[in-house]
Amino acid sequence: MPDHIQTSGPAPTADESPSTDHRVYGPSSTPSHPLATAPVSPPPFSVDGFVKEFLHELNTNQGVALSRSSINDQYLALASTVKNYLMARWLETGRKTRESQAKTVGYLSAEYLLGRQLGNALLATDLGDIAQRGLELCGLDLATLRAQEVEPGLGNGGLGRLAACFIDSLATMNVPCIGYGIRYEYGIFRQTFVDGRQVEQPDTWLALGSPWEFPHPEASVTVHFGGHTEKYTDAAGTERTRWVPEWNVLGVPYNYMVPGYLNGRVNTLRLWSAQATQAFDLQIFNSGDYADAVRAQTFAENISKVLYPEDSTPQGKELRLQQQYFFVACSLRDFIDNELEEGFDLHRLPERIHFQLNDTHPVIAVPELMRILVDDHGFDWDEAWEVTQQCFAYTCHTLLPEALEIWSTELLGRLLPRHLEIIYQINDEFLARVREAFPGDELRARRMSIIAEYPSRGVRMAYLATVAGTKVNGVAELHSQLLRDKVLPDFSELYPDKFTNVTNGVTPRRFVRMANPKLSELITDAIGSGWVTDLERLRELEPYADDPEFREQFRAAKAWNKSRLTDLLAQRDGIELPDGHLLDVMVKRLHEYKRQSLKLLHIVSLYEQVHSGAIAAADLTPRTVVFGAKAAPGYKMAKDTIHLINKVAAIVNADPVLEGRLKVAFPANYNVTLAEKLIPAADLSEQISLAGMEASGTGNMKFALNGALTIGTDDGANVEIRELVGDKHFFLFGMSEPEVAQLGAQGYHPGSYYESNPRLKAALDLIWSGHFSDGDRYLFDSVVTNLVHNDRFMVLADFDSYLATQAKVEEKYADVDAWTRSAVLNVARSGFFSSDRSMRDYLKRIWHTQPVI
Ligand SMILES: *Cc1c(COP(=O)(O)O)cnc(C)c1O
Repeated sequence: MPDHIQTSGPAPTADESPSTDHRVYGPSSTPSHPLATAPVSPPPFSVDGFVKEFLHELNTNQGVALSRSSINDQYLALASTVKNYLMARWLETGRKTRESQAKTVGYLSAEYLLGRQLGNALLATDLGDIAQRGLELCGLDLATLRAQEVEPGLGNGGLGRLAACFIDSLATMNVPCIGYGIRYEYGIFRQTFVDGRQVEQPDTWLALGSPWEFPHPEASVTVHFGGHTEKYTDAAGTERTRWVPEWNVLGVPYNYMVPGYLNGRVNTLRLWSAQATQAFDLQIFNSGDYADAVRAQTFAENISKVLYPEDSTPQGKELRLQQQYFFVACSLRDFIDNELEEGFDLHRLPERIHFQLNDTHPVIAVPELMRILVDDHGFDWDEAWEVTQQCFAYTCHTLLPEALEIWSTELLGRLLPRHLEIIYQINDEFLARVREAFPGDELRARRMSIIAEYPSRGVRMAYLATVAGTKVNGVAELHSQLLRDKVLPDFSELYPDKFTNVTNGVTPRRFVRMANPKLSELITDAIGSGWVTDLERLRELEPYADDPEFREQFRAAKAWNKSRLTDLLAQRDGIELPDGHLLDVMVKRLHEYKRQSLKLLHIVSLYEQVHSGAIAAADLTPRTVVFGAKAAPGYKMAKDTIHLINKVAAIVNADPVLEGRLKVAFPANYNVTLAEKLIPAADLSEQISLAGMEASGTGNMKFALNGALTIGTDDGANVEIRELVGDKHFFLFGMSEPEVAQLGAQGYHPGSYYESNPRLKAALDLIWSGHFSDGDRYLFDSVVTNLVHNDRFMVLADFDSYLATQAKVEEKYADVDAWTRSAVLNVARSGFFSSDRSMRDYLKRIWHTQPVI
């Protein structure tokens, strides 16, 4: 911490400082104009009304005439028009929620992978047709304006996208919810390829304007860091602790609308941006060292500058802990100060809020609430703990040990000394309870301690969350079971009732209704439109699987999606997708446990078999494999794998022998926008993680709902997908989780698979020979060596089964009707995977709250 950053300094005098007292709402006297007290009403909407409002926004907000406006001007004016339409509903939602004093869900998540906002807002308001016609009358094209939007990529992958799906569902279900998070100035990096290698570019999502956000600097919150604690005796003679922090930053809230689907409800997503406090500005005058003062400002603003691009592998960086505490401290203060009535008795806090901890990232909220209650509000410890325990629940998202956050006590104590003391006290009382429940079992107490001693002293955030929360949930049945049995077995023994499951889901609005208009139309024609908010009704499609005419239309929708994708990839990446291929898609973050290398070995093996004469190219099922994946910038093996995929793609795609038979496409920068075009076009969904490694997956659900068949292991939510759609309509392969555990226990030797399987050996040797790297035998040595000598995720053990199952895929694909029938049944039987159902489960099992009508 630079020493020129001080929290103290003279207060600004009253006449020069604007009001930042956000407790003061509304005018100071009763308004006499009748309009001032009438509810805000939405502007009337017809095509003419739309055109008027749109041109008004273009002229007054963008300050341009239609004839001189850029596409960006037009996009921003359109966004404002839709926003204005939603505004009255947003204000009304806030009023109703405050009035009802209903319990609110506080979703605490360091990531929200929102995707583009405009299309979703048009869908939620049913303004799509009006906007399209109105824009046409202005000589503009809605699709062009929609394409102008840069998606807010404030998340890495599944975890962040889950948060976005959940807040969409809660708004649609009329449940009061505030999503809390961080407004990163730079979201997930933009991926480019240079000679096949990933190169990261900063994501400048704010550069062309951000019409969807509402900053409220007057409602900023000061967040403290560093310093020390001291004991003092209060007026009543009680010994208390006070935190004397060393520096601070300001959290500025930015509000975003979260519109429910056609229900008039608009919830709020509140993202915090870090700014220097006024003390910094004053320092400029006082010290005379302008440059130093500005540097201090940069230091403060760094906190919300950039999203850490690591998915599943946190690096334990100080700035990341600062981010976590920053947004959580802002959010708790905001809820207590601004969402509750003045003078609200905090003993009743659990009646009004349930904070859901999306993974361990926000777990520092637990000691923060204890600090607020004990230090700021004079609660005694037990009272505060009683309240705190009822306010939180924790969702675990992983089974990988390296993904479980452990913060070093040195760092925590330096940054948040009071919080570390509180954690120690929570741990002392918790361990006393463990010793009482299991007398003499000191080993168990040590195992369960929130404080890890080896390899160095650190706070196990998952343990803290488990001890503090009302519930701990995994994200699919298998994951929740493994969580109980393998990750937190001591805790599930101590608190059997705390553990529960909520299987993940995805929002059908964005991922079916919006992303797949042709399929949506077909479904609605068959069973009506109720499925969009009641996805189990897709069951009513089952009989249509046997209707040849319906199947024909289903194929036509898939063909339309493929052709839309073909156009997009041609224009976006210069990639040419051949017609009539089986479209085989593997899109997700690049991680060894997800096993993109297994998919790659399949491709290399097909190539090798054709060139060695083992199979004729003419016998291959024409197939295009599409990859989409970002690698964490510091994850070498993942980046090498991307490089290798691109090198293999270059050779395969240039090979005349494989022309029209095998093609590999790897469009750069996989994100929500691309997912919305890719997934509806897919025939085959690759969900091939090693069993027991993927907590749930949500990509798998999006594919099934869009009529792709899955080739997958018995892992995560794949298990539930297969159970629901039926074995005959799912391509299962590979070891089960117990088989993986058994092989691991008896000693796994990948080399023996390499030596004994000629097809596998030939594929690996071909890479090793330098065939895909211009003769360079060393370029991909680390990838191949790792597979043959280490192979933590048992790619080689599942290779045979994977290839055999791919052969079954090809056999089935040859029977067009059988394939389409299975695809229709995948759609009809996947209604369970709506995030609306996930939300109902959270409401029932964890939050115990209800919709507000
Ligand atoms: C759904 C989604 C994910 C999660 O995919 P998994 O296959 O479950 O890992 C990641 N990124 C984006 C952009 C998504 O839309």
